[in-house]
Amino acid sequence: MRTVAIFRRELRLHDNPLLQDAERGEFIPVFFLDEYNQQEHGDNLRALFFHALRQLQSNLRAVGGRLYILPLAEQERFFDIVRPDEVRLCEDVEPHSRQRDRQLIDLLNSKGIRVRLLRDSLLSPVPDTTYPTFTQFYKKHFVEHVRPLPTIPAPKAINTPSFDLPVVAIPEPESEAARRWFATEEEVQRRWQAFVRDGLAQYEQRRNLPSQEGTSRMSPYVRCGMISLRQMLRDAWGVSEQFVKELAWRDFYSHILYHHPETVNMELRPEWRGFPWRHDETQFERWAQGRTGIPLVDAGMRQLLCEGWIHNRTRMVVANYLTKHLLIDWRWGERWLYLHLTDADLAMNVGNWQWAAGCGADALPYYRIFNPVLQAQKFDEHGDYIRQYVPELRAATPEQLSQIGQLHHLFPNYPAPLVTPEEGRRRFLEVAQQFFEDQR
Ligand SMILES: Cc1cc2nc3c(=O)[nH]c(=O)nc-3n(C[C@H](O)[C@H](O)[C@H](O)COP(=O)(O)OP(=O)(O)OC[C@H]3O[C@@H](n4cnc5c(N)ncnc54)[C@H](O)[C@@H]3O)c2cc1C
Repeated sequence: MRTVAIFRRELRLHDNPLLQDAERGEFIPVFFLDEYNQQEHGDNLRALFFHALRQLQSNLRAVGGRLYILPLAEQERFFDIVRPDEVRLCEDVEPHSRQRDRQLIDLLNSKGIRVRLLRDSLLSPVPDTTYPTFTQFYKKHFVEHVRPLPTIPAPKAINTPSFDLPVVAIPEPESEAARRWFATEEEVQRRWQAFVRDGLAQYEQRRNLPSQEGTSRMSPYVRCGMISLRQMLRDAWGVSEQFVKELAWRDFYSHILYHHPETVNMELRPEWRGFPWRHDETQFERWAQGRTGIPLVDAGMRQLLCEGWIHNRTRMVVANYLTKHLLIDWRWGERWLYLHLTDADLAMNVGNWQWAAGCGADALPYYRIFNPVLQAQKFDEHGDYIRQYVPELRAATPEQLSQIGQLHHLFPNYPAPLVTPEEGRRRFLEVAQQFFEDQR
């Protein structure tokens, strides 16, 4: 029996369905380098991803296997040379990937090669239709279909035959931010185990505090498949339902992208299409560089620039400020985060952006506008997170951090607010009310 396993975003040995029974017969792991992804993804994600691919390559080598890395254009020639009995791959919900997989499956069918489609980046099967709210999805679908599954052990010995194939080197994009996340598969396991031991039980209480390590910080590794979602679910099951629900949000947004690929650049809710978003490049640039004059927003955007990651609470605040207070198109914000996050994931990013803007699934109603100053008082009470990422405000007291109109006088290197929370709120409500009235 000769099996080919096509790796895409499942870059690990542990608990990997692609590697089930890999010790039996001849087993050929392969990665096809897709130019489309090279152009679409930012350097932070690319750098971490190719780091993970190098880890996988050396871990496979350590058990006697060999990972072939080939340009996508060589795919057909590869199958003609290798002539496998079976090809395994994992399902992917992104529009480009689905089109690529359809073509691949047609090709394999035409050559009489058996295809096994596995699930790894989702925990539950894609339902026939999407659910209108997360709660309905969670109760009626996720809880019904998802149970902890046994671990798939990492293979101890793999037999990969040698072929003369036009292999290519793994690209090495430069990224300081991504380097912070570089880790071996074992190191990712250690970090996850430390979170299970010290963080999971208090997850619900601490997950909203950006100055603390209250969340798992696993998202970049989830994105590259350096850790298994099934393992995360297994460990959280019965310990933190809140954590299990966060994993369920992944499936919720993935299923939406699967059924509504148009949401990549169009609002899911039709009544929002044509909304008069502003396209103010100067203000957008100030937001992107963390120079809005709103401390929590600036801290989040600067965390992104230096770490390629932002805490979830702050992601919600920066997205809400851009779309509501600045009234700038959510698509602009979505693209900026996508190009800078090491955990950039199309389904999660688009779904969360539309949620924050109000135009997506189970989204905030349009009149729910976060006040970023009150958010900071509540979730960064002492200002530790802000002071960490905004050096101009390092000497500011928590009281001073709330004096939005005064901060730039007290700390002359810090900018005046682009829009105060009160002005932003008033303007957004006027524009939105008018727009929805005109629609009636
Ligand atoms: C505007 C915006 C953009 C976002 N873009 C992305 C993105 O591109 N990629 C991405 O993985 N997440 C995205 N998220 C979701 C979330 O912020 C991150 O998954 C989370 O902050 C990752 O940190 P963590 O691993 O410590 O999460 P934890 O709190 O430890 O959660 C565990 C896991 O659950 C999943 N998860 C948690 N929250 C969410 C959520 N709201 N939606 C979907 N999955 C979730 C992640 O896989 C995460 O690793 C975005 C959120 C917002 C508000």
